[in-house]
Amino acid sequence: MHEMSLCEGIIRILEKEARSQGFARVKAVRLKVGAFSCASPEAMEFCFRAITRGTLADGAILEVERTPGKAWCMNCGETVTLAERYDSCPQCGTYELQVTGGDELRVTELEVD
Ligand SMILES: [Zn+2]
Repeated sequence: MHEMSLCEGIIRILEKEARSQGFARVKAVRLKVGAFSCASPEAMEFCFRAITRGTLADGAILEVERTPGKAWCMNCGETVTLAERYDSCPQCGTYELQVTGGDELRVTELEVD
């Protein structure tokens, strides 16, 4: 499951942060997830709860913020917003697009003890 591997990635980030910043418990995690990363916030929360059991983030609240997909349209000569990776340009309808954003998974905020 795709969300599982994303959540495993989050745990690795948390453990690394815990070592470098010296905290023992994570109470809340805020995430930015790109529209093309295929992760639905509901599935992310479900996996996060399952995967954090018994870890430093056991019982932590997960807040997921979805960021829109972005692409450069060569025909329009500007950056456009895409709902799906393989959509056509919303302005001119061509597929001459270069995806520039929407794959990111970033921990933006941590609440720790
Ligand atoms: Zn266009």
